[in-house]
Amino acid sequence: MNTYARQPVAFVRGQGIWLWDEAGRKYLDALAGIAVNTLGHNHPRLVRALSEQIGRIIHTSNLFQVPLQEAAADRVAGITGLDEVFFCNSGLEANEAAIKVARKYGHDRGVHEPAIIVMEKAFHGRSLATLSATGSRKVQAGFEPLVQGFVRVPLNDLEAVRQVATHNKNVVAVFIEPIQGEGGINVSRLEYLRGLKEICDANQWLFMSDEVQCGLGRSGKWFVYQHAGFLPDVVPLAKGLGSGVPVGACVVGGRGRGVFKPGNHGSTFGGNPLAMTAVVTTLDTIKEENLLANAVSVGDAIRGGLAAALQGVAGVTEIRGMGLMIGIELDRPCGELVGRALEAGLVLNVTADNVIRILPALVIGEAEGRELVERLVPVVKAFLAQGAAQPRAAAAR
Ligand SMILES: *Cc1c(COP(=O)(O)O)cnc(C)c1O
Repeated sequence: MNTYARQPVAFVRGQGIWLWDEAGRKYLDALAGIAVNTLGHNHPRLVRALSEQIGRIIHTSNLFQVPLQEAAADRVAGITGLDEVFFCNSGLEANEAAIKVARKYGHDRGVHEPAIIVMEKAFHGRSLATLSATGSRKVQAGFEPLVQGFVRVPLNDLEAVRQVATHNKNVVAVFIEPIQGEGGINVSRLEYLRGLKEICDANQWLFMSDEVQCGLGRSGKWFVYQHAGFLPDVVPLAKGLGSGVPVGACVVGGRGRGVFKPGNHGSTFGGNPLAMTAVVTTLDTIKEENLLANAVSVGDAIRGGLAAALQGVAGVTEIRGMGLMIGIELDRPCGELVGRALEAGLVLNVTADNVIRILPALVIGEAEGRELVERLVPVVKAFLAQGAAQPRAAAAR
């Protein structure tokens, strides 16, 4: 089906943060398959572990014991600080599981029409429940009727959540992407997250942190909630969890613990030995190669370099983000920058119409970070200088 407007390039080989196309041209990969290739391309340790596992066994079934799934779950529990893990195959599935946990949690407490607070501009996936939770009309349009039971508020607005708490007794959970990815790299203030957690505790709601994109080391800690210093009840994960092998997880602790019982949820592929090898190897390598510290230092250097070169340039609205999750907001739609960057040997993405999104692999080195800035800055400046598209305000006049 024609569901993607694709760029006219095919990458056939990768090494670290570098990609090669069919003609042998080399590109710096500042996107990592949309925050997926945590360890970059062709990481020797991942290649070896996966190859060996394929030679042993790829898939069995959740009808039997899966020791590698237990090993992966132990590691996920360890880094999240939570207790129970359900493995699935994608981000929307992890979020679908989270929404089901919230509804079941509500029903178990006698709330027959449980509601979940969600945020404007959030992205949670494209299944019917997750697109209904998503705060984008573009994602929802044409797929109505939407799944009910979501109440929407603006991000970083505690008063809006307090209002809902007083008027809606059906609320059972808050569902938030602490750094919105698709919505334009919108960062939650840490004191906002703490305030939200307090409201959740006061009302016995679940705090559900969608860390599918921002989690797993990208922010400089394993998870964004760890910057705020508390434990959520539900944490959906996917994207970077298997460094490119499709895998997701819904992790629960606190009030979310024990909500799912045998028969409440399932997945045929979920947690198979191949995917679990990818999880174990990814998490162990992040630890052993100190990639959290690397995300902080190289991420800071990239943001610093971008700010030095672009802050104050007409057309650049804001440079923001955390660790290796970076957005540059322009005052005009800039989708065509993706093609211009490719011509300059740089792979990136534009989201929310006017935000350049940088999500490199966590293995990116300091020199590579400088190279990224050196390739990106002239592309942005040339685009803005040529007035390739009119600023929004001007277009509206
Ligand atoms: C990408 C994303 C999803 C959906 O993940 P899929 O694997 O594409 O289903 C959900 N939530 C967030 C925050 C995402 O970035």
